[in-house]
Amino acid sequence: MKPNFPPFSPPRRTLMGPGPSDVHPSVLHTQSKPTLGHLDPLFIGMMDELKVLLQYAFQTRNEMTLAISAPGSAGMEACFVNLVEPGEKVIVCRNGVFGERMRQNVERIGAIPVVVDNEWGQPVDPNALEDALRAHPDARFVAFVHAETSTGARSDAQTLCALAHRYDCITVVDSVTGLGGIELRVDDWGIDAIYSGTQKCLSCVPGLSPLSFSEAAVAKLKARKTPVQSWFLDQTLVMGYWGSGAKRSYHHTAPVNTLYALHEALRLLVDEGLEASWARHAHMHQLLHHGLTELGIEFVVAEPWRLPQLNAVHIPPGIDDAAVRSRLLNDYNLEIGAGLGALAGKAWRIGLMGYGARRENVALALSALRDVLR
Ligand SMILES: *Cc1c(COP(=O)(O)O)cnc(C)c1O
Repeated sequence: MKPNFPPFSPPRRTLMGPGPSDVHPSVLHTQSKPTLGHLDPLFIGMMDELKVLLQYAFQTRNEMTLAISAPGSAGMEACFVNLVEPGEKVIVCRNGVFGERMRQNVERIGAIPVVVDNEWGQPVDPNALEDALRAHPDARFVAFVHAETSTGARSDAQTLCALAHRYDCITVVDSVTGLGGIELRVDDWGIDAIYSGTQKCLSCVPGLSPLSFSEAAVAKLKARKTPVQSWFLDQTLVMGYWGSGAKRSYHHTAPVNTLYALHEALRLLVDEGLEASWARHAHMHQLLHHGLTELGIEFVVAEPWRLPQLNAVHIPPGIDDAAVRSRLLNDYNLEIGAGLGALAGKAWRIGLMGYGARRENVALALSALRDVLR
């Protein structure tokens, strides 16, 4: 039997969930340009530019700055498998789903996670981290999530990194949802290893994980006593392809067209300006917040720690969560996010990420919610 399907033709939705978010039209357009060989000099020239663009987005001079050929979770795994060796102690701050995912990574390596728990919807508490650092002077790493997408809470990455360094720990930071959406300064804040994703605030398609390692992180990687257990994510091998002055030897086939997309997305970010992008996210969040308040909808996170790009709100009493979301999707082509983990069934997550952080989207979300909740 021969399968017979029509071409897949997705409708144009407005993506206002936790990611993927709306992709900029010029990014989609760039992605459809002709595929080059991944060792083609023209493609390699574009990759060199991509590194400079990523350094700008991360605000870093780190030489080891690249995009992992897989989504954010692979960036997370790349940080842990490259830097952490079996038996080493890692303090993992957990205030949502992604902190827990970090802990699982550490455990699978055969390293020892020391968990600092904070309530869902709260930022990581620096005092709790300091208690753990004092109690575990042998800890080598501190890992935390800058922008916890499962709850909409921002943590103070600068303070947490400064604290970790006072206790000689290497910092591993998840800014999958932070990059491009809120202030992030990798060098100034002393972040040693950071990973992100393309499908949140970068207005890009899913599938890549921007990553950057400081000199201290690279030194830790080079001093390993055991080989990195993942062949694919082993950055000592990947640098043969991405490294400056590298011979660009084959490691794996780069996702050529997806890298075009990232190049275009970052070019747009530079055009707008990083700080202007942060300010736009903050402004759109204020407009959304104002409208939601008029509808009587309340936020999960206290004001100082709210992520502008991920608005977690309590589902009003008596409202059918799934019915509302499916009406938004079917009648308005609008996707908002469900609650995750401890917030499942209790919250919605309304994303204002990248190209999605626009006035039209705020207006659509507010008018659609007003209709549906009526
Ligand atoms: C989305 C997200 C991830 C995982 O990224 P994927 O691209 O889905 O693998 C990790 N951490 C945070 C904070 C995220 O929001």
